[in-house]
Amino acid sequence: MYIRQLFAQKPCVFSIECFPPKVADNYPKMQQTLREMKELAPDYISVTYGAGGTAPGGISTCQIASFIKNELGIEPLAHLTCMGADPQKVDQVLDQLFGAGIRNVLALRGDKNPNLPLSREFPHASDLSAYIRGKYGSFGLSGACYPEGHTESASLAQDVAMLKVKQEAGVSHLVSQLFFDNAKYYRFLNMARKAGVDLPISAGVMPIVRQSQIQRTVALSSASLPSAFTKMISRYQDDEASLYQAGIEYAVNQLRDLIEGGADGVHLYAMNNPDVARQVKQGIEDLL
Ligand code: FAD
Repeated sequence: MYIRQLFAQKPCVFSIECFPPKVADNYPKMQQTLREMKELAPDYISVTYGAGGTAPGGISTCQIASFIKNELGIEPLAHLTCMGADPQKVDQVLDQLFGAGIRNVLALRGDKNPNLPLSREFPHASDLSAYIRGKYGSFGLSGACYPEGHTESASLAQDVAMLKVKQEAGVSHLVSQLFFDNAKYYRFLNMARKAGVDLPISAGVMPIVRQSQIQRTVALSSASLPSAFTKMISRYQDDEASLYQAGIEYAVNQLRDLIEGGADGVHLYAMNNPDVARQVKQGIEDLL
């Protein structure tokens, strides 16, 4: 099943993102996490791809995606980055994915990294997408989008214009970067539709349930913080248990508003935490 087809079947597609464990010893725990996530009936589960590939001794994106597909019977979306990659390296990963029965790829460039040169063949995700579309027509392609604009773009309008290039390269679904302010998402959506981007878009939401997540996540995503969010953080900064519940409640409210506002899909950045995923799903179940 291609991810794109899910959007024709449901008013709002619910998905979860997970990331492979860094060491093989954590694989059994990861399998248990995924079994618990299966109980939440996600329409698909996406699996991240470490910059430059899998860390030595780690579990690959393909292994996790294969477990999701072949053991759990859920459609996986395998992320693939092309920073520093050549066609041979990309073919190797795609052949593995294809062999494992995986048919959906989130084609990404990857973050700029001083240790990895920009790929000559794939300077942008759209180049990777066009390559996959041309050589492996059997993969459904998804791409990333940024409701507040990618940090390298001069403006949101310029970034949105590049989404049209992604669409023309064969991407048939977009997943958004996380955001905390739905008004920013609606503004972006409006601009994307006006620019002719008519793909289904999954809106990405991450529940912030621990202090340690705040600086790291916010710095990495460059998401702006509405006052309701900063008030919640300062109110519960010394109370771990209350922050956990408040973070879930914030995400549930955000998701409820997005679903009621007509989002094509909602994508939960659950950080491999099945309890967070379960509580959030319970909070939006009646709307899906
Ligand atoms: P691109 O689409 O290439 O965009 C990068 C910049 O180039 C943007 O400013 C864009 O406007 C511009 N641009 C795009 N196309 C063109 C063009 N044809 N010509 C000129 N300019 C262009 N990183 C990982 O390492 N592993 C992951 O698993 C991973 N998963 C992610 C999942 C999601 C949903 C998101 C939103 C991001 C993810 N990332 C991941 C991070 C991502 O790799 C970075 O944000 C990276 O900096 C950009 O990737 P991209 O695919 O959006 O790049």
